[in-house]
This record gives sequence, structure tokens and C-alpha cells, in this order.
Amino acid sequence: MTRLEHIPPHADMPRVRGPGGPHAIVIGAGLGGLAGAMRLGAKGYRVTVIDRLDVPGGRGSSITRDGHRFDLGPTIVTVPQVFKELWAACGRDFHAEVDLRQMDPFYEIRWPDGSTFTARQDTDAMRAEVARLSPGDLKGYDKFLRDAETRYWFGFEDLGRRSMHRLWDLVKVLPTFAWLRADRSVYAHAARRVRDERLRMALSFHPLFIGGDPFHVTSMYALVSHLEKEFGVHYAMGGVAAMADAMSGVIEDQGGAMMMQTEVDEILIKDNVARGVRLAGGRVLNADVVVSNADAGHTYDRLLRNHPRRRWTAARLRRKRWSMGLFVWYFGTAGTADKWAGVGHHTILNGPRYKGLVKDIFIKGRLADDMSLYVHRPSVTDPSVAPEGGDTFYALSPVPHLGVDNPVDWQAEAEPYRRKVQAVLERELLPGLGDHLTASEVFTPETFRDRYLSPHGAGFSIEPRILQSAWFRPHNVSEEARGLFLVGAGTHPGAGLPGVISSAEVLAQLVPEPVMS
Ligand SMILES: Cc1cc2nc3c(=O)[nH]c(=O)nc-3n(C[C@H](O)[C@H](O)[C@H](O)COP(=O)(O)OP(=O)(O)OC[C@H]3O[C@@H](n4cnc5c(N)ncnc54)[C@H](O)[C@@H]3O)c2cc1C
Repeated sequence: MTRLEHIPPHADMPRVRGPGGPHAIVIGAGLGGLAGAMRLGAKGYRVTVIDRLDVPGGRGSSITRDGHRFDLGPTIVTVPQVFKELWAACGRDFHAEVDLRQMDPFYEIRWPDGSTFTARQDTDAMRAEVARLSPGDLKGYDKFLRDAETRYWFGFEDLGRRSMHRLWDLVKVLPTFAWLRADRSVYAHAARRVRDERLRMALSFHPLFIGGDPFHVTSMYALVSHLEKEFGVHYAMGGVAAMADAMSGVIEDQGGAMMMQTEVDEILIKDNVARGVRLAGGRVLNADVVVSNADAGHTYDRLLRNHPRRRWTAARLRRKRWSMGLFVWYFGTAGTADKWAGVGHHTILNGPRYKGLVKDIFIKGRLADDMSLYVHRPSVTDPSVAPEGGDTFYALSPVPHLGVDNPVDWQAEAEPYRRKVQAVLERELLPGLGDHLTASEVFTPETFRDRYLSPHGAGFSIEPRILQSAWFRPHNVSEEARGLFLVGAGTHPGAGLPGVISSAEVLAQLVPEPVMS
């Protein structure tokens, strides 16, 4: 028999001795939810993961159309050690279960004037790229890399891997934030180090991959340049969905259960303690611990709708700045394996504007005529994603989330916008694309709203601005009820694979330790 050992701050949590050990319910099988379930399983909890989708992985799941397998979301795996440590905490070997391949080059950035920047791990190769674009910026680039390393040790290894739910945790680090000029935006920081606008973009765009406006999110995110250089950029063979499958396998080996195609309607709270969940069909499942990997906004606004909330009220959630929406066109091609030789696994295709476009997306909330695209072509690395001789792609365009001020009617706009994306690709990257198209599928912010129950159809939950990060973000241990915990993009430390895997590490520090008796 096992029981919960009660440690602060949950000393008053009720003891429930269910058969087979204390029961933890994890709502959501996103990467954060799966990692949280693995951590709780390793601690000795009996875990049930519940997700409304038919496959695990959330935004990191995949779909197959006409023989093309599309990774729906994350494609770039950084900081692989967070996965290695997660597997090790479960007594397993990550590399024995997931085939991770190092990318070289990491990605290519292209501008409309024909200039390019190829990002690699090797510092000399990177310096040569900087010198090719702007020889006068070499010194500044070296400084930027040193800045990035300092911010990595503080922002990722320290703050990102521990709970920030006590105000004191924040107060203690304020002097370091001030010293590192965390109030400055990542673009402003890059602009202090290099003069060339293309280099400024190349050193500052990374927050867009976790839903942040580079002209407003904190310069702490410069740390991404360091973690890419230090630990590389990787691809998981079979896509991130293969990682999600491997994680589900670990959970089941631990004795946990995966309940797919099952929606949670409400988290049940009694005497201010989470006691379980009610499913959409009305069935009630009891639990000693409830972990929500659903978006923090959905968790509080919908799943806790009948519980009076002190901090995360509907009004406060409405006032938050949400990350941008995403328009993603997944498409397959036939007879192209030998075509477009210069187009690698990851390409960033800049449109004519950087600052203006970001402002349209994040501040004005208007769908611009121009666009910048991230283009994923996994078939150059992983032949399993496409039928022989063909290619599998996606093209991602950041767009406004579903706002009230300038609503985009995606029912009407999706196809014309897709055609615009195709025209840009044919002109700039993939000439003749239209003659080779096979499979085609489009996700708009409305798909994100309906598929992932993402508030405002946002791609990455609450935007990672400084006053929406760390203590200011919904905490990993809920402020609203005891026995309720949060993992995933909307909680600390934030979106992106390293972020959500780290949120599960923080979760494991907070959830009471079950002891065998
Ligand atoms: C297009 C795209 C590209 C990206 N590229 C990268 C990248 O290259 N590298 C990187 O590191 N990051 C990338 N990201 C970010 C990263 O994918 C996400 O931050 C991360 O996967 C989010 O994980 P999560 O744990 O928050 O859960 P999510 O993936 O949001 O999953 C939450 C799950 O909860 C389920 N759910 C919600 N409500 C309920 C309910 N009531 N009942 C049952 N189930 C429910 C949903 O169905 C979903 O499966 C990308 C994201 C997107 C969208």
C-alpha cells in the first residue's frame, strides 16, 4: 500500500489511500503533460493521462495524408539533455528509445535581396557568415555570444528549472534581471551589438518560435543563441510524434493509463482541494493529484469555471497578452526528391518587412499582405515522411491570434491566404511547386482553438513578456486550489520543447512524495 507523504506547501492535503497507490490525473497528452506523467510515474503515482485527441503529443502530434506524414508543430529539438534527464529519472535510456539526429547546418535564413545566412554549430563557420554579411559586426557578434551564455546560465539553468511560485523567488532575482537588462527587448539587445539589419534579425527572431514578439520580449531570450551553439539543433527520426509515442510507452510501462479521445469537462474541487475530474460524458474520475497540461487559460476559464478564483479570473486572463496565431500549410509533393537542391530541412524566408510585420501581427492584430515563412522539409533527413521520390513540407506564417479588434474570417480567408503562401514559395524557394502538389492541409488559428482548446487560437499560450514570465505566469502549483498543478506552455517556464519538459521537472519538485508503507 502507498500513501501520500505530505510536505509543505501541501501539508493540509487530504490523504487518500486508493488501491495501487495514490492516483494522479494528467489532463492533456502534450509533451509537457507526457513528461509530467513520466515524472509522477517515476515517483510512484498511479497515473492516468486524458486527452481529447486520438494520438498523444498535442501540438507535437502528426497526421498522415496521401502517404505524407506531417509533424504538426515542433520540428527543432534543442537542449536534448532535458529529454535525457527525463528518461534517466524513469530509469531509462533516451537514446535507446529515440533516434535523435544532429542537424548541420541548423537552418538557412533568406532575404528578398538574395542574401542568406546559414546557421551552424561551429563558431568559426558562424563568424565567417557574420563577416560575409557585415565584417564590421564581428566584434559585436562575439559579445552577443558571451551575453547569450550569461543569460543561458541564469535564465535557463537556474530560473527555468525551479519553481517560481513564491513572490520571494522573484524578489531575490530582481537585481540579476536588472544587471542583465532584462527590461530591454531581444531585438534591442541585438541592435546594440550588431549594425546590419539582417544580422539583427538573425540574432533576435528566436522568440517567434515560442510565441514572443522580438521587439517586446525580454533580452533574456538571447540565451537561445547559446543553447543552439552549445548543444546543437536536432531532429527526431519519425518526428516529434515519435518522441510522444516513446513517452506514452514509458507511461504504460510504469503502469499508467492513456485515455485518448476523452475530454475533461471540469476539474472537481471540494473544500478547496482538487479531488478529480468529470469527463465530457459525465463520468467522474477521482484523484489525489490533478495536473493540467491543457492551456492555462482553458484550465482556469473553463475547467475551473464553477470554482471561485482569486488570481486567474476571466477578467485577468482577458487582459493578458496572448502569443500570435499560426497559419500552417502542410503539403506533399511528388517527383521532387531531386528538385530544389538548395532547400534544406529548415528555411526561414523573410518577407520585405521585419519590425512592421511583427507589429501588424502582435500589436495591430491585422493580417498583412506580406509574410515571412518558416519552411520545414523533413524529407531531406527522414525518408519515412514521404512516398518514394516525393517530399513532405510545411510552411508556417505567423498571423494575429483570434482577436476582438480586427477579426480575420478564416473560413473565408484560409484558401486565398494559402494561395498567397504558395505564390511566395513558388517565387522565392520552390519554383514549379504547383505542378508537383499532392497532399494539402491547412491549420488556421481557428484550428488551434478547436483542436487544442487554445484560447484565442494562440500558437503558444500566454506571450512570454517579462511581466508574464516566471512568478507572473500561472504557477506550476495552482494558486486556486490545493492538489492542482500545471505543466506546459502556459505555465513556468514557458513554451517550446525545452520549456515544457522543464515545467515537468518543476512539477516533480512540487508534487508531494508518495511513500511506500
Ligand atoms: C507550429 C508549431 C511549431 C513549433 N515549433 C517548435 C520547435 O520547432 N521547437 C520547439 O521547441 N517548440 C516548437 N513549438 C512549441 C511547442 O510545440 C509547444 O510549446 C509545446 O509542444 C506545447 O506543449 P504543451 O505541453 O504545452 O501541450 P500542448 O501541445 O498544447 O497539448 C495540450 C493537450 O491538452 C489537450 N487538452 C486540452 N484541453 C483538454 C481537455 N479539456 N480534455 C482533454 N484534453 C485536453 C489537447 O488536446 C492537447 O493535446 C511549436 C509549436 C507550434 C504550434
